Amino acid sequence: MRAIRRFTVRTVLPEALKPLDTLAQNLRWSWHTPTREMFASLDPQLWEEVHGDPVALLGALDPRRLEKLAADRALVAQIRELDADLARYLSEPRWYQRDYADADKPAAVAYFSAEYGITAVLPQYSGGLGILAGDHLKSASDLGVPIVGVGLLYGAGYFKQSLTRDGWQHETYPLLDPDNLPLTLLREPDGTPARVSLDMPGGRTLSAQVWLAQVGRVPLLLLDSNILDNDEQARRVTDRLYGGSADHRLRQELLLGMGGVKAVRLYSRLTGSPRPEVYHCNEGHAGFLSVERVRELVEAEGLTFEAALEAVKAGTVFTTHTPVPAGISRYSTDLVAQYFGGGAEIPGIPLEKVLALGAEDFDGGDPGVYNMAVMGLRAAKRANGVAKLHGRVSRGMFHQLWPGFDVREVPITSVTNGVHGPTWTDPAFAEMAERHLTPEQLATGEGWLLGPDAGGVDDAELWAVRRTLRSNLVTEARRRVRKSWIDRGASPAELGWTDDVLDPDVLTIGFARRVPTYKRLTLMLSDPERLSRLLTDPERPIQIIVAGKSHPDDELGVTLIQKLVQFADQVGVRERIVFLPNYDIAMAQSLMPGCDVWLNNPLRPLEASGTSGMKCALNGALNLSILDGWWDEWFDGRNGWAIPTADGVEDPAERDRLEAAALYTLLEDTVVPRFYERDADGIPRHWMEMVRHTLATLGPKVQATRMVQDYVRNLYTPVAVSSRRLDGAHQYVGAAALADWKAGVRAAWPGVRVDHVEASGVADVVNVGDTVSVTVYAHLGELSPADVQVQVVGGRVDEEDNLTEFRVFALEPTEALEGGRHAFTGSYTLEFAGPFGYTARIVPSHPDLASFTELSLVTSAEH
Ligand SMILES: *Cc1c(COP(=O)(O)O)cnc(C)c1O
Repeated sequence: MRAIRRFTVRTVLPEALKPLDTLAQNLRWSWHTPTREMFASLDPQLWEEVHGDPVALLGALDPRRLEKLAADRALVAQIRELDADLARYLSEPRWYQRDYADADKPAAVAYFSAEYGITAVLPQYSGGLGILAGDHLKSASDLGVPIVGVGLLYGAGYFKQSLTRDGWQHETYPLLDPDNLPLTLLREPDGTPARVSLDMPGGRTLSAQVWLAQVGRVPLLLLDSNILDNDEQARRVTDRLYGGSADHRLRQELLLGMGGVKAVRLYSRLTGSPRPEVYHCNEGHAGFLSVERVRELVEAEGLTFEAALEAVKAGTVFTTHTPVPAGISRYSTDLVAQYFGGGAEIPGIPLEKVLALGAEDFDGGDPGVYNMAVMGLRAAKRANGVAKLHGRVSRGMFHQLWPGFDVREVPITSVTNGVHGPTWTDPAFAEMAERHLTPEQLATGEGWLLGPDAGGVDDAELWAVRRTLRSNLVTEARRRVRKSWIDRGASPAELGWTDDVLDPDVLTIGFARRVPTYKRLTLMLSDPERLSRLLTDPERPIQIIVAGKSHPDDELGVTLIQKLVQFADQVGVRERIVFLPNYDIAMAQSLMPGCDVWLNNPLRPLEASGTSGMKCALNGALNLSILDGWWDEWFDGRNGWAIPTADGVEDPAERDRLEAAALYTLLEDTVVPRFYERDADGIPRHWMEMVRHTLATLGPKVQATRMVQDYVRNLYTPVAVSSRRLDGAHQYVGAAALADWKAGVRAAWPGVRVDHVEASGVADVVNVGDTVSVTVYAHLGELSPADVQVQVVGGRVDEEDNLTEFRVFALEPTEALEGGRHAFTGSYTLEFAGPFGYTARIVPSHPDLASFTELSLVTSAEH
């Protein structure tokens, strides 16, 4: 490598334009259309060249041009107004301050994620997980939720995708220069860059500087190990997203989790911002944040590991994002041991206790594996999946951590994902909506059901805007197709045909996502002839726009892309099906609004939620999807179409064939006719009804503000409460007491058993509304009745005596008997007719448990 020393010279703005700096540095521009339009107006051509990047634009404007702009009084006034608007947005009370009155709400929340998709300008994401994290922060900002985000700044982000001549994915990793990104370096009061560091094995150190990205009101801290103090290996830790060996990724996760907590402390110290009471671990990558927090408490408060873990757990939320095993970070135990054992052992943090957190020490687990999702679940007071179905799938997937309980009792709830409305609604569409409808009518969705007489949008205008979006997409797709062919080595002379690719009046179907196998990119190719007939129908053709990156190590994914590209390359269909390379946020922002139909055909139930279809719904595009993820929850028969699944079919090829056939049939018989059925005014009325219904019913639900409010109410606030109960202000006496109590209960549990169950009021046949009274005689050994809850689990049973539907009734201790026996009594009312069954069981009970499943201890009656 040449020894070039580089530095960046920043433009100095004339005084009158100074607010441009603030407006460019705060990423709110990425979802605030007036700010973006102002930047574009400074130099429209340059704005195109810098791909809508305000920092790059300011850097590229020459001083003479700046002087001229500074003399433009109207422009200067507009900039001042935008600056004032931003200042208001940053300081005024919003939902969290104004409307969310819960006295227990947390003072601050720290949100950890390995990737963030905020704008195409900051390519620090690979797909849905990152974009969700970005949308979470933006919506938290809009709501005024006091969150600080934590992540890594990858030197090259995720790769850029192009294609070779024969359709093979080619990856490049352009280096990002943080000085040219909307980031500022955290500095000590003396001006030196602030640092965090971790001890590494062999006496080495991993240090990182911390960049601040300001996402509206929300600070996002990004750790960057590419600094001269580091040795070569440490410098490379944040080189790229999801690349490199297991060892490399483990070092990234150590920096994200442990370094991330240090960065939060650093930020609090430098800015005086409140210390977070809630830590949200978004997927397992950041799980080591809990180890660092335990370390802090052991060191500063002198707590035992167990007491510290209780305090940490009480303030932690864990979100699992995938039912696909390859999506979960897993390491060899030996590798993890290198970082926490031997000479690298951290005082007060014994290796075996770290290993126990992530151990797959359950039925079906691998004893040699350290599992970050398992660790996340064990170190969190509350956990969730990202859609109702995914919650259910996750409870099944992690049932082995709570083997004594029914799968329905596994303590993993769900918060269905959402998307950030202002980011994902096309500006032209938003303008039309806001011109006709009040904020209230948009918030409830009801505005979309109003006729023009009542102030609503009429079909003709809605249809015209939909056409504008489709037409914009066609223009954009033609540009991208042409560029792709040039990159693939074609000469402009042979590319005349690309001017006529796609048609702004043809039914447009979009399919864009990462390319793991379960998303089945090539399902649409199952019957190439049938697909070709759909594409080339002379009267009612369809056109398909496809995009997606495959993880470079996923050879199969890359092969699927090639298969699709080779199909789309064929003369005869190439005007109607295109593959656009380098799927990213910028592409998504024109693709999703411009499609009429968004196709999604994952292998159910492997799609945890999916969010791209939500972005489409915000713009009046209809979903055509397998009933998986969010669509399983919100498809209602009128807001799009469900592709029937062949769930029970074992043979994967047969299942694909069946589901593909169902997809073709839906397109041929329903979707295509409905799109082309026009009235005298040329409007597809039935289609428009579905568009309106989609906007009205899905519009409000798919919002990430709804999602963040769900997190705040159902997870952050309860966790803030449990965290305070175990409390810092009182030397964590609560945490120490809970840890001792748990240890005592675990030790005594073998002595706990149900002795005998008596019920009165039960004959063979009883009536709905009758009351049954139950007394359970239990041996509690060393424990007292206050340490346990005795429960009756009763409900509907099938022929094999399995409870198909049940409720849990707690009994009260009524009598202490000889020999450590106790009687517990209670009654319950029979609520439904039919076969009824019940059993009695004993579980631990303590006011500081999130639920009685927390210790995973249960003793049931033996019948
Ligand atoms: C929304 C989005 C995703 C996630 O989409 P899924 O439906 O979860 O596959 C991925 N990449 C980009 C660029 C997106 O905009």
